Amino acid sequence: MHADSHTHLTDPAFADDLPEVVARARAAGVRWMVTNGTDGPTNRAALALAEAYPEVLPALGIYPVDAVANELLASGPELPWAQAPCDVEAELAFIDAHAPEAVAIGECGLDGHWVAAHMGRQREVFAALIDLALRHDLPLIVHSRRAEAEAIEMLLDHGATRVDLHCFSGRFKLARRACEAGLYCSIPANLAKNELFLKMARELPLERLLTETDAPYLAPVRGERNEPANVAATVATIAELRGMEVAEVETTLEANFRRTFKIGV
Ligand SMILES: [Zn+2]
Repeated sequence: MHADSHTHLTDPAFADDLPEVVARARAAGVRWMVTNGTDGPTNRAALALAEAYPEVLPALGIYPVDAVANELLASGPELPWAQAPCDVEAELAFIDAHAPEAVAIGECGLDGHWVAAHMGRQREVFAALIDLALRHDLPLIVHSRRAEAEAIEMLLDHGATRVDLHCFSGRFKLARRACEAGLYCSIPANLAKNELFLKMARELPLERLLTETDAPYLAPVRGERNEPANVAATVATIAELRGMEVAEVETTLEANFRRTFKIGV
């Protein structure tokens, strides 16, 4: 069975046909889809979606850009999208209260691309979410863009190792060190287009890999909508790259997912 450890099924891109998207995932052998909240509305939507679909598991988080939304709105820089405000303290309290219903804390992390000017506040919010995850014995699903080394250092300083580094875009050596420290890297569905993802899929320890889509983003075909069913092709590609049987890779990846997210049999 396959798992999509990082997706956004509450995105408006799925508003019209989510039952079909979930059915296609199921038909492709995708048994678990961890849908990540990024702010107030999506955290609530993730919980509601998990009620409606047994395969959908909720993760609750505050995306690093949303973590500094109020600072951005007050002083910039202006982003290419309409950023909504975010009451971070209220959201942390909501996540704390609803953590028992979640399988992970995420999406969270550090973003040095869009909001590098607000790194101090990002660190505070990320640290609060790491503490919260450890307190509730939950794994973390981590976004780290142009801040990979610092995000990993913060996680390890807190003693957090049940971690999915989603869409890792740092240096390969750093991904390998993170795996050696016990963290996991999830391989996106668009790996064929990305030398780093291919190298990670081929060379990182198999017992440290997970699979993700980040749907509706990062589609295998640029410009198309991504969806969890695409995980099956990722598993086949990983097997091909490593010269292994698909079934063997699938079994190991399933065990990795169960171990990270504490999903029973
Ligand atoms: Zn994401």
